[in-house]
Amino acid sequence: MGFVHRCQSTLVVAEHNNEVLTPITLNAITAASKLGGEVSCLVAGTNCAKVAEEISKVQGINKVLVAQHDSYKGGLPEELTPLILATQKQFSFTHICAGASAFGKNLLPRVAAKLDVSPISDIIEIKSPDTFVRTIYAGNALSTVKCNESVKVFTVRGTSFEAAATDGGSATSETVDASSSVGVSEWLEQNLTKSDRPELTSAKVVVSGGRGLKSGDNFKLLYDLADKLNAAVGASRAAVDAGYVPNDMQVGQTGKIVAPELYIAVGISGAIQHLAGMKDSKTIVAINKDPEAPIFKWLTMAWWRIFSRPSQR
Ligand SMILES: Cc1cc2nc3c(=O)[nH]c(=O)nc-3n(C[C@H](O)[C@H](O)[C@H](O)COP(=O)(O)OP(=O)(O)OC[C@H]3O[C@@H](n4cnc5c(N)ncnc54)[C@H](O)[C@@H]3O)c2cc1C
Repeated sequence: MGFVHRCQSTLVVAEHNNEVLTPITLNAITAASKLGGEVSCLVAGTNCAKVAEEISKVQGINKVLVAQHDSYKGGLPEELTPLILATQKQFSFTHICAGASAFGKNLLPRVAAKLDVSPISDIIEIKSPDTFVRTIYAGNALSTVKCNESVKVFTVRGTSFEAAATDGGSATSETVDASSSVGVSEWLEQNLTKSDRPELTSAKVVVSGGRGLKSGDNFKLLYDLADKLNAAVGASRAAVDAGYVPNDMQVGQTGKIVAPELYIAVGISGAIQHLAGMKDSKTIVAINKDPEAPIFKWLTMAWWRIFSRPSQR
């Protein structure tokens, strides 16, 4: 097993905005390190020297590969895929991964298709270099997948792996040739919600509201609480569909996956699709006027599961 581990070489595709590294890349680096062997990180951007420098200090990275070209603006998969394929041709990685964010989910299936291999999405555990665990049925079952492909291409659920330490590393840096622009798509602009609160997927405390809030105005109660707790604010899909809040706040199977230290669910019933996005939170507090709400049943079951383990008795 030790020899198998040493033979691995993994490429982590970094997500960033030329200025700052997106935190999920650090979780993907931890997952890559668990495979053993060399870990390289590809930083592709328009003016990304600062991010490359930041990554070279991350623990677990052996080599930073830097590619700069105007067409890498916005991280379009059509433009980044040829670069990754050329890098793969040069270095013959055994694994290629990225965080399971919109960026990674957009990019890696295309890379896998071009390499003619099956991608494995949103892994939560690595059993061995070819065996991964991922959730299915909205997180109600775990599937262990053995991958026989020559190159394993996968995305990593950020909440399932600790973030790699951002200092103490000393990776070498190498420039890789930028591919010429494909030109089938063009990055025009991006309008992001501006907020002083922590980012939802990496916040230590999340306060979420559901249909029980009854209006968008009542979310102000949650924003005030969140500001006191330095928390991010999330929402159920019902609250998003009702127009109370924008959909980038949605937590759940079709929203964001969060696992904060503390998750406070206000006026949320606890449908399985919502639980799929927050059930790995360390402590969950539910505020609901209905004592029969599914979220309480689920919390009771989770409590029973933890305390009925032999080691906890
Ligand atoms: C394919 C699919 C994907 C989905 N993906 C997601 C997803 O990603 N995220 C998600 O959240 N949902 C998702 N859903 C929807 C999900 O099934 C539920 O419909 C949704 O989570 C319900 O949201 P809610 O708990 O806010 O609303 P409700 O189920 O209506 O619950 C509202 C709760 O508020 C409580 N309440 C009412 N008034 C008060 C009060 N005054 N004080 C305290 N409590 C009060 C009620 O008792 C109730 O429990 C998905 C559904 C499908 C089919």
